[in-house]
Parts: sequence; C-alpha cells; structure tokens
Amino acid sequence: AKRTGRGRHARFHGALEASARYRRLIETDLREAIARRELFLHYQPIVRAEDGATVGYEALLRWHHPVRGPISPLDFIPVAEETGMIDEIGTFVLHEACREASRWTSDRTIAVNLSPAQFRSSALAAQVAAALAASGLPAGRLELEITESVLLDASSNNLALLRQLKQLGTRIALDDFGTGYSSLSYLCTFRFDKIKIDRSFIREICDSREALAVVQAITGLSRSLGIATTAEGVESAEQAACLRREGCTQLQGYLYGRPVPADALPERAGAPIRL
Ligand code: C2E
Ligand code: CA
Ligand code: CA
Ligand code: CA
Repeated sequence: AKRTGRGRHARFHGALEASARYRRLIETDLREAIARRELFLHYQPIVRAEDGATVGYEALLRWHHPVRGPISPLDFIPVAEETGMIDEIGTFVLHEACREASRWTSDRTIAVNLSPAQFRSSALAAQVAAALAASGLPAGRLELEITESVLLDASSNNLALLRQLKQLGTRIALDDFGTGYSSLSYLCTFRFDKIKIDRSFIREICDSREALAVVQAITGLSRSLGIATTAEGVESAEQAACLRREGCTQLQGYLYGRPVPADALPERAGAPIRL
C-alpha cells in the first residue's frame, strides 16, 4: 500500500510540475506573441433560427505559436488573466474585431468575449469606447459577451462598469448560461440583451429530457423578459429543429459554420477600399 501511495504521489507531483512548467512557457511566450503578431481572430457566424440568415459573428481569439503551433484559448486565456496580460490582449481583440466589422459590406453584428478579469480595470468602458472611435463602428453593432462570474461578487464595482458599457450603446450578452453558479437573480440585476445557452445543454437536447427541460425553461423565461436567446454548439439539423420548436431566436455552431479567418467572410468580398 505504501508503494502504491508513493507511486501515486510521484505521478501527481510530476503532473503538477509539468503543468506549472507549461504555464511558465505559455506566460513567457505570450508576452512576445502580440508584438510578433501571433495572435489573431477567427469569426463564427450566428444565424437567425427562423431562416438561417447570418445576423452576426463571434470573434474568437487564436494563437499560432511559431514552434508549438496552435494553442487553445482555453489554455492561454487563464494564464493571461492571472498575469494581467488580459488587459493588453483584450484591448487588441476589441480593436481588431471593431476594425474588421467596420469594413464589412453588411451591417452584421460583431460579438467580442470579455474576461471577468478585464472588469478589474476601471478603464474598461474607456477601452471599448476607444475601439469604437478608432474604427468608426457604430456601438449598436458591437455585442459584448460576459459570463455570470462578472456579477458573482456583489460588492464589486462590476455592475457599475457593466452599466457604463451599456450606456455606450453596445449590446450585452450573458454567455455560457446554465453553467457554473447560474442564478436567475442575475437576470433581475441587469437588463441583458441576449442569453447564450451553454453548449453542454445543446449537445444533450435530443437525448436528455433534463437538458430539454433546462432549454425550455431558459427560452420560456427569456421570452417573458423580452431577451433574445442564442444556442451555442449546434451541430445537427435535429438539434436545430428542436431549438426552433422551443423558440430559441438565434443558433450558432458547426452546423452553420466553423470559426474562420476574416478574409474568408462573405462580407469581405468586394469590400470597398477605404483610404
Ligand atoms: P465561448 O465564448 O463559449 O466560445 C464558444 C466556443 O465553442 C469556441 O471555442 C468555439 O470555437 C466553440 N464552438 C462553436 N461552435 C461549436 C460546435 O458546434 N461544436 C463544438 N464542439 N464547439 C463549438 P474556442 O474558440 O476554442 O474558445 C474557447 C473559449 O475561449 C471561449 O468560449 C471563450 O471563453 C474563450 N475565448 C475565446 N476568444 C476569446 C477572447 O477574445 N477573449 C476572451 N476573454 N476569451 C476568449
Ligand atoms: Ca462567447
Ligand atoms: Ca459560450
Ligand atoms: Ca463556453
């Protein structure tokens, strides 16, 4: 039993060391990544449930490491949040996404993810305003996606910051709804424009009565409150049919399109050259 215990300990210790080393590597290289232009955005369509027409795109951050290749945002965003690099990266994403959307031939919306860590800076609203001003993008075309953890700490200044963002004229979406510490009280605390139903429920919606019930509760509540709903991670026509039946207003997922580079978007074709 003693040997097993020590073996386990050694493996556990090794895994911890490896992950700590990996994080240090990410941290060091991430500092260089912006300047070296290794970070860029992909864009995934969001469609109207009724007819499948594209209404907007979500900007998703990508990092192509010169040696390691693509690194997932799920791996490097947490490191950026812990080290404070998220402010610089978040500013880059805002400017890049607004600049891109401002040159489209359509007036489709652009959704940008905001990390809860970006709310630590009281300059957040000023950063968003600067990205809008620099690009000339009308505020109404920018949708900011936040997670409920932003509202988790009732004593924080986050609600005031959120109201400042809303005041700019941007739309605010509540991302990953139904996971984590989800509380319906957040829907009373702040007037969201949209709720994004987490992919974990969409994945199960055709097979699990429980997942379906959760989706029905969210769409029903949203309808009563006059809030739009987007289902994330829609991969099959069956899931889409079910979500349409439940009155979900928008759909997003591989069924409609994977995240792609900006130059693959239809609104780029024949875009007028701006001087
Ligand atoms: P998220 O905001 O929930 O973004 C949706 C994720 O689901 C994306 O993963 C997207 O590629 C993926 N996805 C979309 N449709 C499907 C589908 O049909 N099936 C499956 N299996 N997956 C689908 P991605 O791009 O790897 O991003 C992961 C997370 O990283 C995001 O989750 C978001 O939390 C974070 N992230 C990405 N870009 C940014 C950013 O610019 N800023 C911040 N703060 N976080 C970001
Ligand atoms: Ca999102
Ligand atoms: Ca999400
Ligand atoms: Ca998510």
